[in-house]
This record gives sequence, C-alpha cells and structure tokens, in this order.
Amino acid sequence: MSKPSPEVYEEGKGMDAHNSVMRDIRSRNDSTYDPREPTRVWLDEDNTPDGVYQSLTIILNTGGCRWARAGGCTMCGYVAESVEGGSVAHEDLMAQIQHCLDHESENSDEQSGLIKIYTSGSFLDEREVPAETRQAIAETFADRERIVVESLPDFIDEETVGDFVDVGLETDVAVGLETATDRVRHDCVNKYFDFADFEAASEAAQAAGAGVKAYLLMKPPFLSEAEAVEDMKRSVRRCAAVDGCHTVSMNPCNVQRYTMVEELYHDGGYRPPWLWSVADVLESTADEDVIVVSDPVGHGSDRGPHNCGECDDKVQRAIKDFDLRQDPSVFEQVSCECEATWDAVIERERSYSLPLAR
Ligand code: SF4
Ligand SMILES: [Zn+2]
Repeated sequence: MSKPSPEVYEEGKGMDAHNSVMRDIRSRNDSTYDPREPTRVWLDEDNTPDGVYQSLTIILNTGGCRWARAGGCTMCGYVAESVEGGSVAHEDLMAQIQHCLDHESENSDEQSGLIKIYTSGSFLDEREVPAETRQAIAETFADRERIVVESLPDFIDEETVGDFVDVGLETDVAVGLETATDRVRHDCVNKYFDFADFEAASEAAQAAGAGVKAYLLMKPPFLSEAEAVEDMKRSVRRCAAVDGCHTVSMNPCNVQRYTMVEELYHDGGYRPPWLWSVADVLESTADEDVIVVSDPVGHGSDRGPHNCGECDDKVQRAIKDFDLRQDPSVFEQVSCECEATWDAVIERERSYSLPLAR
C-alpha cells in the first residue's frame, strides 16, 4: 500500500491526534496491488429517481485517498486497497475499465443502465484520476443511462461534473457525508469537512445538471446505539432538505482491517449496529421526500451489522426489499425475540466515553 507519510499529510485540517493514530495503524499493512486490475467489480440492481436499473459497480484502484494517507477516517480500510507509490497512469486506469466491461459481458446478456464508479477516495480529484482519464471514461459509458461517481465535496465543481452531463448521462455525485452532524463527523469519523461544504457541493452539482447521492455511516465509534440511530434519523431529514440531494444511502459501519474501529472492537469498545437499528431508521424516515436505501455489508457476522444470528438474513432481506420499493410495511413482516434485547440496548447503552486518543 501507499505508506502514510508526512509529505501527504494534509496540514491544517485539524484532528492531528486521530490522524497520528490512524497513520500508525495503517502502516502495519504491507499489501500491494496490481495497477491494471480494479479493486472490485460487480453487477447488481439499484433504485434510482427513474426506476430500478441493472448496475455495474466499479471500485477503481487509484493512488488512494489523500486523506487516508494523512491518517484518515476511523472506520475506513480502503487505503489498504490502493497501489504502491500513490498514483496510477491513464493507460492502467483504462485497462481497469476494460476489465470491468469484460466482467459485465461475461456475466450478463444486457448492458447495465447504471454505472457506479468509486475509487477508495475521490474520482473527481485530478491527482487520483487525471482529467484525460475522467473524460475517456465519460465517453466509454456515454451510451448508458445513468452514472454515479464518488467524490469528497472539495473536488465537486461544475466543470468536472459537466464532463458526464455533457455526454448525455444522467449524472449523480456520491458524497461520503457520513452524518449531517458536524461534531460526529469530526470527532467520531475524523472527516474534515462540514455540512455546509456538502451543501455547497450539492449546489455546484446541480448547477452542472447533476444530482447528489449522500452516503451516511450508521454508528461510527464513540456513539451508543441510541445516539447512532438518532444521528441517522436527523441526518436523513437534513439531507432530504438539501436541493439536488435525491438519494441517501445509509450504511451501517463494519469493522475493517487496519482501522481505529478495529482496535476498539478488539478492546471491547465497539460493536457494529444492530440490523433492527437500520430498519428503525428506514421505517421512520420513509415519509421524507428522498429515496433512502441501505446495503448492510457483512450482515450477520460479528464484524458487520448483526442481530442475534437467527433473524439476520430475514431482516437483511426486508432491508433489500425496502431499498427497491420504499415501502415501510416490509418491516412489519419480520420479528424475532432479540428485538427485546435491542430495545434494552437502545435504552441502556451509554457511549464509549474514554479519551479519544492515547
Ligand atoms: S472514508 Fe473516504 S475520505 Fe475517509 S479515509 Fe476512506 S476513502 Fe478517504
Ligand atoms: Zn433475532
């Protein structure tokens, strides 16, 4: 992986203590990756403002997130998936795209209407993906219906987003907002920007003719289960009120390797959220004028969002069903004895109030 180093340390963003701990944790990982292979690619189905599409999701292997190399977010192990040296050439990035197109044609008879591109960082950051590559990728997918590209708010401007709108694609920018509460984003996630930056980025995306999809993180470290649920309900509502933000993807935190969350998890200081909490947020925000979806990764496992072990698959299926239909009644059909335990957790759990840094 690209080693965290003082050269890439993003000065002036605060949270030096978190960053220093995260750099130390990440430096224990010594894996390297092939720059001509994407990190991951898969086919799925997705709900969008104009219906459900087959989707091709691509996680490009780029130089990785600069913020992660500076230390980065407490739950994010993605920098571990980036390549040695910190940048990937145009030809290599295009070889990764070709690999994804091959994967699509080998596994499906139809072309996916929706393309989603993530980079373990910011696709719109020109230090990660050069303008030449961004434009070539827009051309490659110009015959599809919709595209989602991921970026931190800093890199979202009319011109870069315009590259996709101009080739005729319905374009959405996915922003890892994590929460609408600045204090939680700063102190629990260790992400440096403010909700106001997200609002400004949404305005820029809208001016370019694009929409915004906000990614929220349920239960970063240091929050109790009840605080995490409240934080998500408030965040969905605040996102729904932002012009141009038509979809919220609310995802429960899982325990990734080489992260602060993993350290806390091993020390008994972190449990991923209950799937009942995910269902609760989806159910109670269903009246908002925004699509809310969730994809609990690693559900049912100890390191992922889970209930008692008996009902996890059932609740996960209800969540996936809700994603496609936005009908809160799907949750009336699932129940389990462990709901009583979850109720007690919501009522009694207190946040992990030990010092944030050693
Ligand atoms: S969550 Fe995003 S911004 Fe934070 S370290 Fe990971 S890739 Fe970077
Ligand atoms: Zn259960």
